[in-house]
Amino acid sequence: MKEAMLWKKLNGNLVECNLCYRKCKIPNNGLGFCLVRKNINGKLYSLNYGKIIAEHVDPIEKKPLFHFLPGVFAYSIACPGCNFACAFCQNWEISQIFRDKKLGVVVGQDETPKEIVDQALKHECRVISYTYTEPTIFFEFAYDTARLAVKKGLKNTFVTNGYITVEALGKIAKYLHACTVDFKGAGNKELHVKHMLVPEISPIFDTLLEMKKKKIHIEITNLVIPKIGDDAKELERLVKWIADNLSPNTPFHLLRFFPHYKLSNLPPTPIETLEKLYNIAKKHLNYVYIGNVPGFKENSYCHECNSLLIERFAYNIRIVNLEKNKCKACGAKLPFVFS
Ligand code: SF4
Repeated sequence: MKEAMLWKKLNGNLVECNLCYRKCKIPNNGLGFCLVRKNINGKLYSLNYGKIIAEHVDPIEKKPLFHFLPGVFAYSIACPGCNFACAFCQNWEISQIFRDKKLGVVVGQDETPKEIVDQALKHECRVISYTYTEPTIFFEFAYDTARLAVKKGLKNTFVTNGYITVEALGKIAKYLHACTVDFKGAGNKELHVKHMLVPEISPIFDTLLEMKKKKIHIEITNLVIPKIGDDAKELERLVKWIADNLSPNTPFHLLRFFPHYKLSNLPPTPIETLEKLYNIAKKHLNYVYIGNVPGFKENSYCHECNSLLIERFAYNIRIVNLEKNKCKACGAKLPFVFS
């Protein structure tokens, strides 16, 4: 347990958390929506600080980050909990553990930021990735680890739902190099309210603009859920916003859904649906990929001359016509980060 960052005292012993856009107002002895922040006598505490519930060496492509240090390994960690409650979460056993099991204690293996950084170096990872659950809800641990990681020459990446406040992002921005921001159903309102318990997703767009301002590398994923999150018009609205406000070169990943958790009654996303949405996204964005279908629309091609830049099969890659961030075939400057 550690005193939280970014909260304020309200009247009496009430406190307000300012880490994510839920901005929970928490009474004494109460918990925030994420169930890992507690008001104890008028002070807000993070209950999951250093409680590591998942820890793996992953290819960076698994995040997915296709344009950021391609081919490196990311030391990937999570603490339990989440500020969303997605009925289709693929990591629900660790993200929804408190909501579902009503645990009285916060589970996870105790580790320090130094231990995480040492492990990353030992496994020759160039990146630490805060992932699997939502990094915003273990912000203090991510912040301490990221700061130390930078001192040791490592980079940091978040895989996030983008609900982090602009203030929290501003606090960690100088240690944060890349973010994968996950949309579900291209921002469909009914899906968010009914199946994720998220009343309003508009703050995610503010966060994306702030990430751009802070020069954090951004890749965007969109989970395509059949029947309830596969609307072509909504997808087109999302990709147009990305092209107009971020860049047409923003990497965009359409992810195939597989039945999970409370939505295990739905079928996997049909390949034809993914292909249809891919073609719509390609009208506005230069780098569109399909995820969770190995070997299918995973390659990168130069947006100027269409030469093959990186060939991919699942998490295996072969760099072809790419030298740093230049196309070897036509010399165009390309949106890839190599250092
Ligand atoms: S991080 Fe948790 S406590 Fe803080 S605002 Fe978000 S859901 Fe509420």
